[in-house]
Amino acid sequence: MSPIKYVAIYGKGGIGKSCTASNIAAACAEYGHKVLMVGCDPKSDSTMTLVGRRIPTMMDLIQRGGEITERDLIFPGYKGVWCVEVGGPEPGVGCAGRGIIVAIDFLRKVSKAMEEVDLVLYDVPGDIVCGGFSAPIRKGLVSQAYIITSGEYMPMYAGNNICRGLKRLGTPLAGVICNSREAAGEREIVESFAKELGSTLVAFIPKDPLVQQCERRGVTAIEGASESSIAGVYRDLARAVMAGANPVIPKPMTDERLRELSCA
Ligand code: ADP
Ligand code: MG
Repeated sequence: MSPIKYVAIYGKGGIGKSCTASNIAAACAEYGHKVLMVGCDPKSDSTMTLVGRRIPTMMDLIQRGGEITERDLIFPGYKGVWCVEVGGPEPGVGCAGRGIIVAIDFLRKVSKAMEEVDLVLYDVPGDIVCGGFSAPIRKGLVSQAYIITSGEYMPMYAGNNICRGLKRLGTPLAGVICNSREAAGEREIVESFAKELGSTLVAFIPKDPLVQQCERRGVTAIEGASESSIAGVYRDLARAVMAGANPVIPKPMTDERLRELSCA
């Protein structure tokens, strides 16, 4: 048995973390891997396309009190993907990072899922300055990170900032994923971005209306558009994630260098 992979998906809000993570999870499950998807974003929407509906969050259950078992927290999704949603504080109250730590500690107390699967995928909040960014890393619960970006300046800026955090915490970056916004020269820009960080571009995901059509039906593209080319792209990415790519401690750039690179 290969060691369990603990993989976190990082990137600016709205760039496609939840969507990409759930498609990776679905594809890995189709390949016969046991996957635990841990939605850490307070939006609690990471697992919707895997389960087909919004599931109760751990924070809600913990706050409600009473006895809580594994069955109350972990919901089976597409092809047996195990799904949990941490949930989060109301805006302006409390800290998402603290919530993630409490929730994951609780999960490990009532369930062996974190130790029994082949892949644990964390979908983390997009906001780098929030404690939610580092919470799973600080707990030693992330072995590799991926960054999702497009070829636009803002998501690359966020990605570079995330690399500053990864470097500080000694967490390897396994690769950069480009989720295309059809920016000019996008593939080359994101390839250069990855290379400059000491990493590689592991996937170029085209912008495809099928993704949102499936999302609206409550399914991943893997499930809802199984034969499509976009599903093929997600399957290739899932295989790369399971293969472990080439994890490196990233070398973040200066803001000036990033600006040069994004305007090239
Ligand atoms: P995040 O989790 O980073 O905030 P989401 O995964 O929720 O972002 O994605 C934001 C929106 O973009 C969603 O409606 C999603 O369906 C859409 N989206 C993501 N990737 C693609 C893609 N490759 N093509 C088309 N739409 C996409
Ligand atoms: Mg999300």
